[in-house]
Amino acid sequence: MTEKQHLLLIGAGLCGSLLALRMAQRGFQVTLVEKRPDLRDVTQDAGRSINLALSDRGLKGLRLAGVEEKALELCIPMLGRMIHDKEGNTFMSNYSGRDGEYINSISRPGLNMLLLDAAEAMPNVEIIFNKGCKSVDLENASAVFEDYTTKERTELKGDIILGTDGAGSVVRKSMFNDRNFLFSFSQDYLTHGYKEITIPASDSGGYRTEKGALHIWPRGEDMLIALPNLDGSFTVTLFLPYSNSDYCFDNLTTPEMVTEYFTKEYPDAVALMPNLVEEFFDNPTGPLGTIKCSPWNSYGKSLILGDAAHAIVPFYGQGMNASFEDVVVFDEILENQKDASIDWKKVFYEYEKARKHDTDAIADLAVDNFHEMKEHTASPLFQQKRKIEMILESQFPDVYSSKYSLVTFNENIGYAEALRKGRAQDKAILNLLDDKKISEADKPSEILNIVISETNAILHDD
Ligand code: FAD
Repeated sequence: MTEKQHLLLIGAGLCGSLLALRMAQRGFQVTLVEKRPDLRDVTQDAGRSINLALSDRGLKGLRLAGVEEKALELCIPMLGRMIHDKEGNTFMSNYSGRDGEYINSISRPGLNMLLLDAAEAMPNVEIIFNKGCKSVDLENASAVFEDYTTKERTELKGDIILGTDGAGSVVRKSMFNDRNFLFSFSQDYLTHGYKEITIPASDSGGYRTEKGALHIWPRGEDMLIALPNLDGSFTVTLFLPYSNSDYCFDNLTTPEMVTEYFTKEYPDAVALMPNLVEEFFDNPTGPLGTIKCSPWNSYGKSLILGDAAHAIVPFYGQGMNASFEDVVVFDEILENQKDASIDWKKVFYEYEKARKHDTDAIADLAVDNFHEMKEHTASPLFQQKRKIEMILESQFPDVYSSKYSLVTFNENIGYAEALRKGRAQDKAILNLLDDKKISEADKPSEILNIVISETNAILHDD
């Protein structure tokens, strides 16, 4: 294999930096170009998703590149959802009935820095910061970059281009604008946006609320969530409609309105956020959308991966995890190349064939979970369903996995299969509870049999 080929990677975010590291480990010459300054040298933007939920699929990607252990040092395990009602009561709903299955809160810049350090330590990786890609010559695998400060333009060329430049990808836009091939593209925004606020550490440096959980304040249309950080703080994210609602970003325009809204909806959270009003107005409001497109490659010379190919809404905590899984799948396809020289067109084709149905599935699951988190987590029927799932997972750990577990903890099946099976199981349990055919007081083996048989009937009908 001609592994001295030169790969030009555009975008040194989470996907690009892991991909650069892995491709360098495979022996390629890698140039990684990033439009922002080196995040190891500058203070971070406030309010841009500073922590993320990292789970098994993402960990698999980090393991492949030998950086899992280091990443785990940055992680805080979150064992379940801690639901906060309007009266300030809380209850914990575990993510799994099996021991050892939980998700992790990790700092985005911390993880990105770790990956950049590891990539930079490879002798065959060059990382260039402050240069934003302006245009791509897809047929020739070259791109023009503009320096962030001097505005000077340079052209860089590789044997291929890998576009990991996120949801607003310039590489993808170049594919979209190329009239020589048919490029399908869809972008669906939610009517909600998001804004980040902080629960600072307590005066003694401790956590002001339970550390080992992902906190949720579900309020039907709106929702607040909070993930812990290593320094004792939490990053809180508000999900709120932009308009057409009693409270929405369009009408929360004064400190009084913001205080009124939070005090009414999230009284226990307000008490933990001393800088609420200031941060609400200082921090940006971000949009939430799903991008699907195809093909992901053009001319066998360029390929898009990560959010550039499949941006999703954040409600399953899987965007980064899916992007890391992209690296695993791409790597597997390269590993299976038998020829002496790499046929990139074939690799890109096989990669999309292996991956697209799964990234489409997680995009749909993430939208489902938006509704589940904001509307259903507080409902008695949903809570009963979770109790049944916990019983099945703890009593039959090798037999039963809930939809959440299939998506989050089962890296051995694709998202598409997790969707197919998980949705049928959800429907089965909800039907059975509604028809009073099962209850948590029943014998676990009886619950298992009836749930499996109802699930199979649903899968059969579909
Ligand atoms: P990005 O992380 O966006 O990186 C793209 C990089 O390319 C950036 O560094 C950017 O500066 C650079 N770039 C862009 N344009 C250019 C250009 N023209 N030239 C050069 N460089 C360029 N995922 C999870 O798994 N778990 C979560 O809990 C989670 N929570 C989220 C919460 C929110 C509010 C949001 C918005 C997203 C969340 N995600 C989560 C999704 C996750 O952030 C993304 O899926 C992930 O960052 C994708 O990685 P990426 O490298 O493809 O894109």
